[in-house]
Amino acid sequence: MRVGVDVGGTKIAVVVLDAGGAERLRRRVEYPSREYAAALDLLAEQILVAQKEACADCSVGIGMPGFIDPQSGLVENAYNTPYNKRPLKKDLEEKLRQEVRFANDANCFALSEACDGAARGARVVFGAILGTGVGGGIVVERRVIDGLHGIAGEWGHTPLPWMTDEEHPGPRCNCGRLGCIEQFLSGPAKNRERDALGEDAALTRFADRLARAFSMVINILDPDTIVVGGGMSKHDEIYTQVPPLLQRHVYHRNPRTPIVRAVHGDASGVRGAAMLWPA
Ligand SMILES: [Zn+2]
Repeated sequence: MRVGVDVGGTKIAVVVLDAGGAERLRRRVEYPSREYAAALDLLAEQILVAQKEACADCSVGIGMPGFIDPQSGLVENAYNTPYNKRPLKKDLEEKLRQEVRFANDANCFALSEACDGAARGARVVFGAILGTGVGGGIVVERRVIDGLHGIAGEWGHTPLPWMTDEEHPGPRCNCGRLGCIEQFLSGPAKNRERDALGEDAALTRFADRLARAFSMVINILDPDTIVVGGGMSKHDEIYTQVPPLLQRHVYHRNPRTPIVRAVHGDASGVRGAAMLWPA
């Protein structure tokens, strides 16, 4: 059996999956303190309790925002968690006395959907999270591709492709750059447009921009399936309006990449974290 943990800005979610992917235990706790040592203790304690209740020798996988820098071993870009800029992997492994696998939460999302979700059976999967921010993950044959720097799939911080004159150069992003995809395709970005244009026109623009952003992914990765999660994934326009627009930008006459809605919802992060280890 496998323990999966989803580390968020305000809480920790824990799940135990059996070999068939069924949930044996699920729990969530909020951080009583955001101080690193206390938050580290809480994380270790939640894992130990889950192991005690479900399986003494469970593997442990953790999904969280940002990434662990392969060179320094420090957590990076996980600004809203208590673990940013800390050697979390090393410290947690010392406490648990076992190896712990880490992945970005968008990668965990993609892994979960590739293993037993909306992209089940697809060999190459691109998982796109369209929520408060825009994240992405790449899974090939049920393995996360994390990359040299641990940032593979971070399409949210590349510029919106094929910008119009009106869009150029785009709003300033939290990362400091101009015109990032996140500034056009996050939930807050859509809501800004809705307030100015109305819901229908905002969603039509959103679909057009998403088609461009996905076309770039298809031109580079050509995934078998694109699976969409996050708050924006509830909009049907993503699955009806975007596919016919791909033809304008994809370097193929008849692009047919399936674009599907995630099935595990908010649970995909914690499930995917458990799936960082084989069943
Ligand atoms: Zn950015």
